[in-house]
Amino acid sequence: MTSKEVLRVSELQTYFPLKNKIAKAVDNVSFSIQQGETVALVGESGSGKSMTAMSIMQLVNKPGEIVGGDIQLEGKSLLDKSDKEMAKVRGNEIGMIFQEPMTALNPVLTIGNQLTEMIRKHKKASKREAIDKAIELLDTVGISRPDQIIHAYPHELSGGMRQRVVIAMAISCEPKLLIADEPTTALDVTIQLQIMNLLATIQQKMNMAILLITHDLGLVAEYADNVMVMYGGQVVEASSKKDVLTHTKHPYTEGLIKSLPQMQNQVSRLEAIKGTTPPAYAFPKGCRFAPRCPYAMKACLEDNPPLANSEDNHLTRCILHQEGGPNHARNYS
Ligand code: SF4
Repeated sequence: MTSKEVLRVSELQTYFPLKNKIAKAVDNVSFSIQQGETVALVGESGSGKSMTAMSIMQLVNKPGEIVGGDIQLEGKSLLDKSDKEMAKVRGNEIGMIFQEPMTALNPVLTIGNQLTEMIRKHKKASKREAIDKAIELLDTVGISRPDQIIHAYPHELSGGMRQRVVIAMAISCEPKLLIADEPTTALDVTIQLQIMNLLATIQQKMNMAILLITHDLGLVAEYADNVMVMYGGQVVEASSKKDVLTHTKHPYTEGLIKSLPQMQNQVSRLEAIKGTTPPAYAFPKGCRFAPRCPYAMKACLEDNPPLANSEDNHLTRCILHQEGGPNHARNYS
């Protein structure tokens, strides 16, 4: 472990045993995040990105379970922790923000009650100290009149304000790692930018590591340091943001980029990726992307390619880009 490494996920496998089959929702996923760094997990729904986050927090619903690999926070395995210990880790060392703020907020409690409860659950503080801290946190996340807003109920706030409150709750204990799962998807574009800029400012101040889960490559281009593209429960491309977005290797990443209007360079029309992600219990035998890949050939149907270096520090799971493959060290963009 390097001195600044916050999270290390190694060969993580989260499976769901079903009748006569196994759904491999997360299948041998490895990555790490350093202090102050943002790693984006990108992919369509069903790619395994949210299940990776749920696995890190150990909130995988039964019958799903982590069947292999390890998750270490600052060098200590989270898989060794009891449920009680994990409950302390969540909210204390790992903060979480989800797409829909109402899922994180209790509709029958005031904002102040929820924030003070969170603060007092994880830190020793008197009621008065917790209220002062709650007001300070609301101020930090850009809510004006925080001394009045603590008396409001969630439904009295706009979607953007509710997400700011959720961020205030997530950072209340100054977590080492913040997991943000589609944090702005439910918000309009202007508010999206405000929320992402707020997260970036808080990250700088607190030197937090952020795992950003998103299907939006626009957000990735703006806010991520490193990117991992997931498909079929596996990482198919991983490198720095610049390499993934401008020296794209994997045909799936190429498809994601082509289907995003603002990221197209010379492509004159939007090209959506044909077909849908296969269910996690029915992946094809060879490359999992083969049924949708415009470059698929016979060899792709035989074996699932390994995730291998296509260039220095640029991992790709595609036979075209493996050592000796026809496109080794060539890019799509
Ligand atoms: Fe496409 Fe074949 Fe590469 Fe899979 S291995 S992404 S099917 S070219």
